[in-house]
Amino acid sequence: MIHILQRLSQPFVYAIFPPMCFICSTYYDSREASIGTDASDPVSDLTVPYFCESCREGLLPIASPFCSRCGLPFISREGDNHTCSECLLGKKYYRKARAFGIYDGSLMEAIHLLKYRKKTSISRPLSALARETFFRFWDINTIDLLVSVPLHVKRLRERGFNQAHLLIRRWAKQEGISLDGLTLSRSRWTEPQTSLSRAERRKNIKGAFSVRHPERIKGRKVLLVDDVYTTGATVNECARVLMKAGAEFVDVLTLARAV
Ligand SMILES: [Zn+2]
Ligand SMILES: [Zn+2]
Repeated sequence: MIHILQRLSQPFVYAIFPPMCFICSTYYDSREASIGTDASDPVSDLTVPYFCESCREGLLPIASPFCSRCGLPFISREGDNHTCSECLLGKKYYRKARAFGIYDGSLMEAIHLLKYRKKTSISRPLSALARETFFRFWDINTIDLLVSVPLHVKRLRERGFNQAHLLIRRWAKQEGISLDGLTLSRSRWTEPQTSLSRAERRKNIKGAFSVRHPERIKGRKVLLVDDVYTTGATVNECARVLMKAGAEFVDVLTLARAV
């Protein structure tokens, strides 16, 4: 059966078996969905096979102007990227943080499906978006190690996977970039940060991470990866211990950015 289907043309297969949206589970016509998309827009190309038109419209990619340090998009859509007031005041251990889109709408739904409903199949399009974001903001030659923000072993057992690791696992190897999901570890259990204020989050996360083998980090150009950047307390704390372990620099890539 599969063999026969593979021989049929794609439009014919889609007519009989229209794709089901990975987010809202409705069937949609991906041929229609691709009409009117900008051929030069890589995000459309990546998402048409997975998300219906309405869910695709609910993705809110981050565009300039944003904070050149933490990536926070500015409300005013005019002007160049510059440093936001929070980055001018607070200490950041990472060099720059960038995200694919705003943590809202269908991107938030997709991340919730992955993390809380364990719909790991959705990591395929999400990982493609993470890859696209990587190539949009970094030159591959400037990064030599991808590190995913670790989960505490108790959370990892409960969830069964680390969502940050799923965002990079597929393409890191293809692109020839080393991937390390073990050296940085979450040594202390922390309560979920969702209800905490910015200052409480910073306090809650302090000392939660450690580097097991500093020699694996020393002198490396590290890109730290997580699913969501909320206040930045988690990635900043990870960046602090990675820098202490001797990283040349730490940059941050997240799929989503809370605003
Ligand atoms: Zn949908
Ligand atoms: Zn900033």
